Order: sequence, then structure tokens, then C-alpha cells
Amino acid sequence: MSNRLVILTWHSVNVHNNRYSGNDLVAFSEDLVQLDRLGWTILPLESGLERLERNDLPDRAVALTADDGSILDFASFAHPTCGPQSGLLPRLRHLLAHGRLAARHEPIISAFVIASPDARAELDRKVTGGLDLWPDSWWRDANASGLMHIESHSWDHNHDALDRTAQRDNRRGDFFAIETENECRIEVDQASACIERLSGRKPRFFAYPYGQSSDYLRYEYLPARGAELGLRAALSCEPAPVSRSSERWHLPRFVCGRDWNSPDEFAALLADVST
Ligand SMILES: [Zn+2]
Repeated sequence: MSNRLVILTWHSVNVHNNRYSGNDLVAFSEDLVQLDRLGWTILPLESGLERLERNDLPDRAVALTADDGSILDFASFAHPTCGPQSGLLPRLRHLLAHGRLAARHEPIISAFVIASPDARAELDRKVTGGLDLWPDSWWRDANASGLMHIESHSWDHNHDALDRTAQRDNRRGDFFAIETENECRIEVDQASACIERLSGRKPRFFAYPYGQSSDYLRYEYLPARGAELGLRAALSCEPAPVSRSSERWHLPRFVCGRDWNSPDEFAALLADVST
């Protein structure tokens, strides 16, 4: 029995080469194989947290998350400079089909997507070279796949590349600036409603863009409004395992590329959090 759940995060859009250290997709496959080999058990985020609450978590339990919702979460993609890329879900399916993951796992990838179609289109034009990396056409199929849940990564990420965001003074580039009721209604409520409409399922988790949250959002808005919106918890990017004393609206998690950059670093991180 364990009293900690480790939440891990990859960004499928991080494809700079075809090696582990510059490609979150490559890292994802290798990390899953290593989790299996080292005796970890992959659980869905929601049931992992419920079992932590009930004191019913297996030893060495992890949940898988992906941020920003590029098409590479779900499908394969012909990358213009790095060649064909197999996405996170195809990689998970491949490992399952080839018996690389033991039967104890219940793998679900919680994919945190940006809701606003306009924001995604603008980000695609300005940030990812117009490759059409941010469609929402796959969200329904992802939720129906049995291996992925579409969750909320806000309305517009308050992303600095956008001309205009929900932030009242159009101050972009961090999520600390989302700190009024009106901004939160757009970034949280409107995002959830849009994702439910486009994906067929109401999001149950919110991941703070950049891992950042204002005191208002974290201590007032989500504690007051989160449950009625159907949200179970919000995720930060504070690098730590989740315990029963973790704050529901600020659960910690580890990020590939920041908290580990190689299979050895990943193994060291896992060893560190299981002692
Ligand atoms: Zn993000």
C-alpha cells in the first residue's frame, strides 16, 4: 500500500529531434516501459486519486497526463523536419498490443486541451507553422477510446502569442494574471462547456497553464465553483508526488523535459519519490 500518487506529464508537441532528450513522444514510450519494468502501476488519474483517498493505492502508482492538446496526443503525424511521428495514444496502443505493459496497469492518458478554437487556430499560425496541430476533431474519439480522457487546460492558456486573451488588461504570458471572477468564468467555465460540447464529456480536471495560478483562482474560485462545474481537482507543475494532504486545487506533478531528461534521470526520479 502506498500513500502517494505520482502524476507525470509530457508535451506531445515537443518534437525537436528523434532522440529521447528532444522528443517527448520517444520519451513517453521509453518511460512507460521503464515504469512497467520497475514495478510501477499505471492508473487513471481519477481512480488513482480516489484510491489514494481510500488508502487503497498500490505501491508505486502513477497517472499519465499530457498538456496542450496537440494532435500528437492522439494520432500519428508527418513532422516536417523530424519525419513520421507516432503520437502518445498510438504508442500506448503499440505497447499494449506487443505485451510490453503488464495486466496490472489501467492506462488512461489525461489530455489537457486548450478549449478556444480561435486560440488554437491562432497558435497554430503563429507558433507551430500552420501545420494544423491543434484541431478538436479527435476529442470525441479520444474519449471513446478507453485509453484517453480529454480534460481542460483553460480557454486560451492566456498565451503570449495571442493578440487578445480573456485577461482584463490583455496582459498575457502567465496564468497568475487570471485573477478576477470574469476572467475565471471564461478560462474555467467557458472552457469546460466548450470541451464538453466538442468532446462529448465534461472535463473532470483542470491543469493550470504554465502550472501557474493566482491566489484568487486557487483559493477562492475553484474551491467555491469547481465541484458544481464537475471538476475533481486542479493540477499545478510543482514537482512532488500527491499525498492525502495535497491541496485539491493545486495537485503537484512532474514534467518531462524539466524534471527528467533521460531514462536514467527518470529512474532516479522514481527511486527518489518511492523512498
Ligand atoms: Zn500548457
